[in-house]
Amino acid sequence: MSYTFLNTPIEYLKGVGPQKADLLRKELHIFKYSDLLTFYPFRYVDRTKFYKVKEINADLPFVQLKGKIVNTKMVGAKRTQRFVATFADNTGTLDLVWFQGAKWFSDKIKQSATDEYIVFGKPTIFNGVFNISHPEIELVGEENTTLASALQAVYNSTEKLKSRGLDTKGISRLQKVLAPVLKNNIPETLSNSVIDRFQMLSREDAIKQIHFPQNPEMLKKAEFRLKFEELFFIQLKLLKQKVLRETTVRGFVFSKVGDYFNNFYNNYLPFELTNAQKRVIKEIRLDMCSGKQMNRLLQGDVGSGKTLVALMNILISLDNGFQTCLMAPTEILANQHFETISGLLAPLNINVGILTGSKKVKQRKLIHQQLQNGEMQILIGTHALLEDEVQFKNIGLVVIDEQHRFGVAQRAKMWEKNTQAPHMLIMSATPIPRTLAMTLYGDLDVSVIDEMPPGRKAIQTLHRFDNHRDNVFGFMKQQIALGRQIYVVYPLIKESEKLDYKDLMDGYESISRAFPAPQYQVSIVHGQMKADAKDFEMQRFVKGQTNIMVATTVIEVGVDVPNASVMVIESAERFGLSQLHQLRGRVGRGAEQSYCILMTSYKLSSDGKLRMDTMCRTNDGFEIADVDLKLRGPGDMSGTIQSGVLDLKIADLAKDAQVLHSARNMAIEVLSEDPNLEKPENSSIAYQLAMNNNNRINWSRIS
Ligand code: ADP
Ligand code: MG
Repeated sequence: MSYTFLNTPIEYLKGVGPQKADLLRKELHIFKYSDLLTFYPFRYVDRTKFYKVKEINADLPFVQLKGKIVNTKMVGAKRTQRFVATFADNTGTLDLVWFQGAKWFSDKIKQSATDEYIVFGKPTIFNGVFNISHPEIELVGEENTTLASALQAVYNSTEKLKSRGLDTKGISRLQKVLAPVLKNNIPETLSNSVIDRFQMLSREDAIKQIHFPQNPEMLKKAEFRLKFEELFFIQLKLLKQKVLRETTVRGFVFSKVGDYFNNFYNNYLPFELTNAQKRVIKEIRLDMCSGKQMNRLLQGDVGSGKTLVALMNILISLDNGFQTCLMAPTEILANQHFETISGLLAPLNINVGILTGSKKVKQRKLIHQQLQNGEMQILIGTHALLEDEVQFKNIGLVVIDEQHRFGVAQRAKMWEKNTQAPHMLIMSATPIPRTLAMTLYGDLDVSVIDEMPPGRKAIQTLHRFDNHRDNVFGFMKQQIALGRQIYVVYPLIKESEKLDYKDLMDGYESISRAFPAPQYQVSIVHGQMKADAKDFEMQRFVKGQTNIMVATTVIEVGVDVPNASVMVIESAERFGLSQLHQLRGRVGRGAEQSYCILMTSYKLSSDGKLRMDTMCRTNDGFEIADVDLKLRGPGDMSGTIQSGVLDLKIADLAKDAQVLHSARNMAIEVLSEDPNLEKPENSSIAYQLAMNNNNRINWSRIS
């Protein structure tokens, strides 16, 4: 094995001096040969395809053309001098322009009635005319025709790199220098049996092919091999963590279901549980009496009733003499959980507390005290729960709501709240695509609530253009006449905060005009209001004293007003899909038919249109999350950025679900036969896994 070769510093590569090496490190994190080799192309250009001049439009990335040079000229004086060659095929003409090396190119490229050239580059429009600056160009029939031979890799680059000649071509050139010396220098990372199972390329061949594919079939094989490998090692790591935890971390045994649970279940349960809720409660309960520490993700769409599931399990914890806590990402949500839970538990004489950032020191002290002497049985709160002063007498279960808003480190912090790690129940209301869940939470067990409480009518979602606002107002009046309440939500985005507030206030005014007092009452809630004013307005709406609530997205999470049955979302095209889905989830909580109206301008981007269509087509959060993932890519999905596991170099969770499943199943199989990866045939896998772990540590030191 020659890891030394792969670890060679990048400046040792021919063509990379100290300056370029510095840029490669800074701009692309390429430190050594292995980094360059795993700096994969982001797409390929088919060099066997030729475009015609008339087919060219500004959206095309790279094109290849065949034709003749019909005119050449030098333009401009000294510093701005450039060489322009007019290129023509039988459909039209365009200009090829060289700013650098103009003289050299003017000697090389001549007008000719017979010579044919192949030209390759990115067309741009300048003064209404198409041109290609600094194209690759070759005379047809020239000895070294590399063009038109195969798929050409295209690499990401940056402006800085480009200015130093490290554009996609420049990077390709470096790969070309490295390619011939690869022979037997890239160690295999998978075992023979894994490679055979999928008839994969060796790692070395895959890396060669990914940069210089022989043909589309080989490219496919190379992509599969490298994607598989990338996902396989992530899964292996997650699954190993899981096994390790299950074998080394003991869990509190909640051996009984006692009075708290039974009393509540028999006498105070506000409604019949859905079958899904019952099943999930059981799954969790079994976990908590297994002797292993539970780490379970509870997934369920908005409104599926996760809070009640959490509460039932909290009661089991109390029945076994343990305290519990419930952590939520926002103060509004923590407050609401506190109201709901202390309300439901009122008849049971249970001590429930709330701790948020805005609590006074004196109140905090009291809470801390009650936690330590065990008087306080359930603590609900925000990030404030993470603080070191928050110490329990004996905590047995931690529930985290809206997990995607917390990081892994925060989850880990809650482990330390008892001498032995408490059980962890992690709830996610934002449905995340399964591929993402498997990658982000691959070390957790998963329970899914796949059923809505009965009596809910599917929310009807409509898309309306701004110029139909009068109709929408008319509809709102009908609904108010039926006794319903309405949300009207405006976007509020940091970068355009000022304008957004203006839109909000303008909107509020026009709604107040269209819905005049005393017949109608209109509330407004936004982030710039004082907390008590916000509360006051919120309460008026909750109590049904106002008909319309005009708001920013502050109401996105939490708010639960069953009588509100219409959600109007202004400038809906400015919201992402998951946010639209969350907002829509504020209605449809009662028995009445609910509506969500998406208002947009007439001009919509194709993405915007797809988002509106998706919302109108389905209420299924998972389906929406899948579309969201495809539109935005995993890096942009809320809460995933910090996780690190998503620094994928080649696999794409939106597209590679199949590969991910294969990789995960293979990892399960390998570990089940060789849990510690001790068998000789798995030595390369074990070695690579250890390397990955080391690298991660090194990385965090560097950055
Ligand atoms: P989420 O899963 O989004 O956290 P909640 O726990 O807030 O959902 O529940 C949404 C609403 O559904 C609440 O008003 C809750 O009281 C109600 N609910 C929960 N379970 C049931 C059930 N089994 N039958 C009827 N309503 C229910
Ligand atoms: Mg919830």
